[in-house]
Amino acid sequence: MEQSYIMIKPDGVQRGLVGEIIKRFEQRGYALKGLKIMNVQRHLAEKHYEDLSSKPFFPALVDYIISGPVVAMVWEGKGVVATGRKMIGATNPLASEPGTIRGDFAIEVGRNVIHGSDSVESAQREIALWFPEGVTE
Ligand code: ATP
Ligand code: MG
Repeated sequence: MEQSYIMIKPDGVQRGLVGEIIKRFEQRGYALKGLKIMNVQRHLAEKHYEDLSSKPFFPALVDYIISGPVVAMVWEGKGVVATGRKMIGATNPLASEPGTIRGDFAIEVGRNVIHGSDSVESAQREIALWFPEGVTE
């Protein structure tokens, strides 16, 4: 079954959005297969976003992700990668439709609350990176 790596970023945790975000994925019909709160080592944040390492915002992005605890999750179900991205909304929250997570809770691209895998292949890479111990069956 398809899985996606979903991560509530430090601003989302600090602002108390963990329950709201989990509720949305549960209510849509997805199954939670892995969940942990963790402080992120710099090398892990750099590895996660390695495709963006040449971007001018990369250092600020890594600093953001390691600025406080994140909630790392694996969600499973039909079409979870693409539907999860739709539920999250556009990268820049000002372009995110109301009703999406970023469209309801964010206005800054550099504080956009949540990450979602952008393809099934990315999801497999990210789940292996963030959950080397594995997730539930
Ligand atoms: P994520 O991978 O976190 O789910 P995304 O797939 O919507 O986000 P990416 O292009 O992968 O967008 O960018 C990763 C993250 O880098 C964004 O979520 C955002 O926090 C940050 N970012 C992207 N573009 C910019 C930018 N122009 N200025 C500042 N930060 C940016
Ligand atoms: Mg991305």
